[in-house]
Amino acid sequence: MIHEVFPVGPLQCNCSVLGDERTREAIVVDPGDDIEHVLAILQKHQLTVKQIAITHGHIDHIGGAMKLKAATGAPILMNEGDLEQLALLEIQAAWIGVEAPAPVKLDGLLQDAATITAGGLRATVIHTPGHTEGSSCLYLPAEKKLIAGDTLFAGSIGRTDLPGGSFDKIIDSLYSRVLALPDETIVIPGHGPATTIGEERQSNPFLMRK
Ligand SMILES: [Zn+2]
Repeated sequence: MIHEVFPVGPLQCNCSVLGDERTREAIVVDPGDDIEHVLAILQKHQLTVKQIAITHGHIDHIGGAMKLKAATGAPILMNEGDLEQLALLEIQAAWIGVEAPAPVKLDGLLQDAATITAGGLRATVIHTPGHTEGSSCLYLPAEKKLIAGDTLFAGSIGRTDLPGGSFDKIIDSLYSRVLALPDETIVIPGHGPATTIGEERQSNPFLMRK
């Protein structure tokens, strides 16, 4: 599998390009900004985007989605729990001091346990509410990789003080769903460096409950 992770926008959201080496089809996760850069990565690997998957409705993750859709024709998918976040994009833009993007229109919903595909790539949706109600992770079982959005970071977890956030829910999502994955799973958080489930299980101060 081709997997490029690179930070986009002023908040340095990790955007992922996942590509099938055989069919040259791709899933782009969290194209928050810098769509020219995303398109250059796609071009470099000669990939065609089949799905634009959004881990949650914060502007730094979804801000460039409509631009990417206009350039590629691929559908935008997100969990319905974050529909209310889309109504707040202008307010979110003001918080971080960027221009408000054009309104985002979803083409489909990321349902819990659904599988999204591009060529031979398979990503399973794990709904992990807490950072926002619709926050979702994408798990690639063949690669043992988790794209975690802002649910889990190396050494920390997502903030829950923004609208729609819940500390109890994120802790429940992490213990009941994320920590259910094997230790060797590589975690690509929404911001910052990669980690593994085993590393976080051992040393993340939020996850050391016995
Ligand atoms: Zn967020």
